[in-house]
Amino acid sequence: MSVPARLLLVEDEPAQREVLVYNLTADGHEVITADNGEDALLLVEEERPDLVILDWMLPRLSGIEVCRRLKMRPETRAIPIVMLSARGEEGDRVRGLETGADDYVVKPFSVAELLARVRVQLRRVRPSTVGAVLEVGDLVLDAESHRVHRAGVAVKLAPTEYRLLSAFMERAGRVWTREALLDRVWGRDIYVDARTVDVHVGRLRKALTEAGGDDPIRTVRGTGYSLG
Ligand code: CA
Repeated sequence: MSVPARLLLVEDEPAQREVLVYNLTADGHEVITADNGEDALLLVEEERPDLVILDWMLPRLSGIEVCRRLKMRPETRAIPIVMLSARGEEGDRVRGLETGADDYVVKPFSVAELLARVRVQLRRVRPSTVGAVLEVGDLVLDAESHRVHRAGVAVKLAPTEYRLLSAFMERAGRVWTREALLDRVWGRDIYVDARTVDVHVGRLRKALTEAGGDDPIRTVRGTGYSLG
């Protein structure tokens, strides 16, 4: 990454915090820290981090409450949150609850795993920092040259299919409704039937599978589509 991402690490255990600050910094990130939930909310306001790593159990305001508040507010909703939770205590509950967290890691975790997950989240929200090249699985999209490759094989796409893929790759894992895709790919003012979306997703799928590999686009019944 050309510009270091600014991460807010919220962890109340000093030893754990120290280890993570060391490793995140070594991985090229700028790290600011908080040891309680209230300070975390203030720091998000003041420092506008690109990502928040948030421990579940925190003094003053729990991680889950911090997460809920950040995801409730339009200004902070898009900031990815990686939650940390202790195995056996909250791990299962984290899974069950709709925390709004973008990812979570169960303690004890390997630092390498956390670093990898942080990178994935950052790539999602800061595609520009990786040279306008988006990568999801074996797909690579170069936004400057408008070239797409799958596992090294060039994929030829019509402009609409290219814009569709670009939307999918910028928000890998997100479930897109047909309406959201219409707005994003065709623009709000143009009247296009939702069925048109299906047709173009079909063409995109055909082009991607012809390049080799499985269909990377998932149909979410009754809702829309998702990549990766
Ligand atoms: Ca804690």
